[in-house]
Amino acid sequence: MDFNIQDTYNKELPADPNKNNQRRQVFEACYSYVTPKIPSNPKLIHFSEEMQKTLGLSKNEINSTAFIDVFSGRKVLENTNPYSMCYGGHQFGHWAGQLGDGRAINLMEIIHENKRWALQLKGAGPTPYSRNADGLAVLRSSIREHLCSEAMYHLGVPTTRSLSLMLSGDEVLRDMMYDGNADYEKGAIVCRVAPSFIRFGNFQIFASRNDILNIKKLADYTIKYFYPEIKETTKSKYIEFFNAVLDRTLKMILEWQRVGFVHGVMNTDNLSILGLTIDYGPYGWLEGFDFNWTPNTTDRQHKRYRFGNQPNIALWNLYQLANALYPLVNEAAPFEESLEKYKSDYAEKYFVMMKNKLCLFSGNKIDSSLIELLEKNLIASETDMTLFFRNLSKINKSDQFDQVFNLIKSASYQPEEIKDEILINWEEWISIYLKRLNEEQLTDKEKLEKMNKINPKYVLRNYMAQLAIDAANDEDYSIIDELYQLLKNPYTEQIEKEKWFAKRPEWARNKVGCSMLSCSS
Ligand code: AMP
Ligand code: MG
Repeated sequence: MDFNIQDTYNKELPADPNKNNQRRQVFEACYSYVTPKIPSNPKLIHFSEEMQKTLGLSKNEINSTAFIDVFSGRKVLENTNPYSMCYGGHQFGHWAGQLGDGRAINLMEIIHENKRWALQLKGAGPTPYSRNADGLAVLRSSIREHLCSEAMYHLGVPTTRSLSLMLSGDEVLRDMMYDGNADYEKGAIVCRVAPSFIRFGNFQIFASRNDILNIKKLADYTIKYFYPEIKETTKSKYIEFFNAVLDRTLKMILEWQRVGFVHGVMNTDNLSILGLTIDYGPYGWLEGFDFNWTPNTTDRQHKRYRFGNQPNIALWNLYQLANALYPLVNEAAPFEESLEKYKSDYAEKYFVMMKNKLCLFSGNKIDSSLIELLEKNLIASETDMTLFFRNLSKINKSDQFDQVFNLIKSASYQPEEIKDEILINWEEWISIYLKRLNEEQLTDKEKLEKMNKINPKYVLRNYMAQLAIDAANDEDYSIIDELYQLLKNPYTEQIEKEKWFAKRPEWARNKVGCSMLSCSS
């Protein structure tokens, strides 16, 4: 393994002078040096071929002992100085103080084909930020993170990536549903990859301590490496920076809504400053369309992070980021202006995105009520979001009510309930939609192609991940690879894999891991 190591974060930003691995509050530093825990029997069980190539590794290298050593944390690569980042955050709306990388250790930054990548182990042992936890990760959550990061990338959603998935050989104690039934599970280590893992919380921690010098250092660093298009040198560069982060965050949320992804824990420490989806925990995919749905049982009561609230929460988080950057500008108006605009910008973009999902490109006043009625109907008949939109591409302009109605019924989890008012509303929607479709210029074939590029056929439903997890717990890793291969081409028909284009089976409706997930990981 011959990486072009080009560390910057731990070269240009202030380090915690204390090199102990004791849990503590860390001041005036962006990170602390940490050595990963030596795992007792590491074993590579899956890697992303895409990431292997992207980072310039060969398959032989990835299967070598040297790779296992470094990417399980057994050995520290020469000329590298691993570290964990210091950050804070608002958790579920409340300021939680210092959090930091409690189980993430950054190994190094490399440059390959002119691209900068930070490589980070998740689950490689305790750090000064581990608070009262162990710094480890279990196999089930590591499989979910590894598969979903790669699946999201192929869906076209901005995300951190995952290079490798290893078993550590150690056992980890977890109370999976926080109900007093703790049990040992297999430990695992994922190597996450992103240009940078800086979060909103990295800025917030300094702001909370009135450490303006370090907010500035971190902002200047982030702009220099990750927003180089900002050439401004006066303090208005921080406004430009904020606007660029806002822009990327808005785009990311829009993509989540497009594919029906629910993050589950949108705390400010889980929002990337690069607008990447980060920290895959109790996430899920909409099956029955429902703005109120969240997969995270820890959030069952208030549903703060429900599907329909994600755009608002992103805005709430951006307010917190604005507060953290404010001392660099000392003027609230420019931040407020951008934050004010977010709502209308988002609504506008969401409208266009939904129109595109329906293959409506021309302007028509009726479209916003058409979309509203559709959302209402999808909810009322508990319709599978992925199946519905994907099947809609097959509708031809000359089709009649029956063809559309049959596909709606086939995607519904409660087809027998489509009667009375629900039926009348669907009739109304179908008739307007068919009329609208006939006003569009595209041929049926062009329509099919366009719709199939925006409406994925395959997403990583929770029950699918759970099947991979159950098999992996019995040392069968084949489903992990089957899903990885499937989700590399989420928009392509894969006839031999049709079983993954189906409604969630009934057994998964209320099963732990399939519809219920906690933050325990
Ligand atoms: P999350 O909301 O899951 O992203 O995690 C919130 C905070 O808890 C972060 O600072 C994590 O690093 C930390 N954390 C979560 N799980 C563990 C663990 N097993 N050991 C140490 N820290 C953890
Ligand atoms: Mg986190």
